[in-house]
Amino acid sequence: MEKLRNYINGKFCAPASRKYLENVEPATGRVYSLIPDSDERDVQKAVDAASAAKKAWGATEPEQRAAILNRLADLIEDNLDEFALAESRDNGKPLWLSKAVDIPRAARNFRFYATAAAQFGSESSVQGDVLNYTLRKPVGIAGCISPWNLPLYLFSWKIAPALAAGCCVIAKPSEVTPLTAYLLCRLLKKAGFPDGVVNIIHGNGPGAGAPIIEHKDIPAISFTGGTATGEWIARTAAPMFKKLSLELGGKNPTIVFDDCDFETTVRGVVRAAFANQGQICLCGSRIYVQRGIYEQFRDAFVEKVQTLTCGDPLKPKTKQGAVVSESHMEKVLSYIELAQEEGGTVLTGGKRARVSGRCKEGYFIEPTVIEGLTATCRTNQEEIFGPVCTIEAFDTEEEAVQLANSTKYGLASSVWTSDLNCAHRMAANIEAGIVWINCWLERDLRTPFGGVKHSGVGREGGMIALDFFTEPTNVAIKVN
Ligand code: NAD
Repeated sequence: MEKLRNYINGKFCAPASRKYLENVEPATGRVYSLIPDSDERDVQKAVDAASAAKKAWGATEPEQRAAILNRLADLIEDNLDEFALAESRDNGKPLWLSKAVDIPRAARNFRFYATAAAQFGSESSVQGDVLNYTLRKPVGIAGCISPWNLPLYLFSWKIAPALAAGCCVIAKPSEVTPLTAYLLCRLLKKAGFPDGVVNIIHGNGPGAGAPIIEHKDIPAISFTGGTATGEWIARTAAPMFKKLSLELGGKNPTIVFDDCDFETTVRGVVRAAFANQGQICLCGSRIYVQRGIYEQFRDAFVEKVQTLTCGDPLKPKTKQGAVVSESHMEKVLSYIELAQEEGGTVLTGGKRARVSGRCKEGYFIEPTVIEGLTATCRTNQEEIFGPVCTIEAFDTEEEAVQLANSTKYGLASSVWTSDLNCAHRMAANIEAGIVWINCWLERDLRTPFGGVKHSGVGREGGMIALDFFTEPTNVAIKVN
């Protein structure tokens, strides 16, 4: 069985504890690799390596960093099949999805920030006889912690801008999906990264994540994960005055108006609810449909959802893979039970799905649609993060806005209408970091990405991430 190792100072190494955690393939329920159970000693070793490397890396020309990031993107693309298979086995998502979306997007993240590094400048202004300009210095060492749902996609979305900005990185992938971050380590030297610039530590949150948050020599933390973890991180890092970027949970509304393009909307709303088994922070899990088309839409939606059969993620025809773990499956199933206790009716799905052959012990859930719930019930307030959505009717635009904004979250939303004025009003009134109109998950990497309310603090994307990983010093010169 493969035993993964940490990557510190350009070398693979065992964890100080010599202990390992089991990594389970969710589609089969079987342990298939072991990952380091790292702790503060491993983090300290990584901080020592990064401290020794940070001055030289911060002083490299942006073009040099860009060339290395581009080489890493090339190498990921050269190894697309291996990375995609690893992502699919680790996470349970269909292999075609890893191949078409996750891994290409990881390569694109490195390419995007290679270009951005070379384009990143700073401001200047003149006031009377005083010239002001801004020196932007890398923060030094960045701590990057990512979740399991889009493993390499989100891991690279954090480390690429940090490295482009001239920071050294101490990064921890989710212990549930460590494999693609591990494979990435094999490419780092080939791409040209000096030792100590990228350090990757494996392990669970309290053991390996917390020491990164608590370390006094890591001044910036970029975190994506659950809101409860984000809250602990905010509480722990704030008294140390660390820079914090927190991308947290969501409970995103999908608003469908009577005048939408019906077929396109049904297709789009199904995808928004069930892509990646509903395990994308941006998935639309609360669907509100205007009363005039409610029944027609609901029936067409349910019919389409019933075509999303679960299957072996490695088979090309599989539409829905496994959810990420047994405990996550139990959590999602418990929410389906709760929804029924709260008065909901399951229109389709509602149970664990059984897939034959090698996947007979796998963690599959039938795509589930629930009707008849109030906006305030727990099912409609708490993040489920699985293949489960609710559907309800609304009458007016004002009501749609109120429903959209009725949770503590504010990450993303989508609005489906052919009335452009209504679309603009909705976009202005919905409390969310992202509003998609007549589409979902269209991502231009230059745009600000992140949420409001309990969905996070700060934004990623574009030059915003380079601002985050640098510290500005204003220089004012009097010119006589
Ligand atoms: P999680 O919060 O349990 O874990 C995320 C990461 O944090 C993991 O690497 C974990 O090991 C680490 N961690 C856990 N406890 C820690 C601690 N005390 N200190 C430091 N690190 C710690 O989240 P998850 O279950 O892996 O991911 C699912 C969540 O992520 C969902 O809530 C989802 O909405 C959210 N998410 C948000 C976005 C976004 O962009 N807003 C994107 C993807 C996922």
